[in-house]
Amino acid sequence: MAKNSLTIPSLALKIATEADAYKFLEELRWDGEPDGCLHCGEVGATYLIRPQNGVSRKTRTGNMSERRVWKCRACKGQFSVLTGTIFHGTKIPVRTWLFVIVDMCSAKNGMSAREVERKYGVTPKTAWHMLHRIREAMTLEPLAGLMRGTIQADETWIGGNPKNRHRKDPREQGRGKWGSDKMPVLSLVDTATGEVRSRVVPDVTGATLLPVMRGQVDMAVTTLHTDASKSYTGTIARQAKAHAYVTHERDEYVRDGVSTNMAEGYFSQLKRSIDGTHHHVSREHLQRYLNEFDFRYSTCEMDDHERVRTLIERVPGRRLSYRPLTRSQAPQRTAPKPQQRRRDAGLTLDEAMERAHRQAAEGRGDV
Ligand SMILES: [Zn+2]
Repeated sequence: MAKNSLTIPSLALKIATEADAYKFLEELRWDGEPDGCLHCGEVGATYLIRPQNGVSRKTRTGNMSERRVWKCRACKGQFSVLTGTIFHGTKIPVRTWLFVIVDMCSAKNGMSAREVERKYGVTPKTAWHMLHRIREAMTLEPLAGLMRGTIQADETWIGGNPKNRHRKDPREQGRGKWGSDKMPVLSLVDTATGEVRSRVVPDVTGATLLPVMRGQVDMAVTTLHTDASKSYTGTIARQAKAHAYVTHERDEYVRDGVSTNMAEGYFSQLKRSIDGTHHHVSREHLQRYLNEFDFRYSTCEMDDHERVRTLIERVPGRRLSYRPLTRSQAPQRTAPKPQQRRRDAGLTLDEAMERAHRQAAEGRGDV
């Protein structure tokens, strides 16, 4: 295995102070210095406000801060490396963020909010929100290019079998073979690069899978490898440049280089992680967990330093405020204010995400 250039002990040495943590982020995001002003875009007009005592400055509230702030000569605006990122407006020390990110990027099975809470001494709500913000950065942009080449497509089911529920469990027993708890997931694996993209889908019929696949894959130039499921052998197969499948029922798993083994490998790791680390993932948040696993799986050839750099590169333009996330999931010790509750009512996850993105794009957002 390659020598890992970023470990927790080496990071602890590198970012001994909060100012060091800012510097480290500046290196990752800007290669040291901002290319231009984050407000007006003016190039060559930005300078670092140096603390008079060399270490920290007094903030408006009178506290001492080691935050590194940049100023623009053109628009007189101030900004820092956190501006417009998932860290924007955070009250958590940047050092803590970096430790959690490195932990999360290197932990093969992911991290639970409980672990972050215990390890870093933050509240459950903070831990939960930090992890979701990091997951947001791990999410591939909507405009990321389409996959092409040889792609394995396969689907799996995540979630408990209703059959195993306690007989007094009030939830309705689902219909059909799998019951209502199982959530189907479609994963697409690029056999050349190892990139994975996964999507929660309502069902696994060809009619449902086709538009999802077309959103991710340039079908006309792609050779699809799947199992013998009828979902793929119809329209999907006709739209692809070529389609080849293995028949698991006949104990056929690899034939002339055709298989779904990479997708199966991904699924087994995903399930182990959900069972072992998160225990349960709700329907509402499954897509975010998938994004996290896709990111980690797709970057598995990188060392942790490269992986963290890749993550930080995706950080600008992503903001996620607490409110859109918290319809029902955040561990809350205090009840939300009535006004807050009303504003959230009726938002689906997609709408909430869209609102968060819109706010980020408009430079607003409440975190
Ligand atoms: Zn400016």
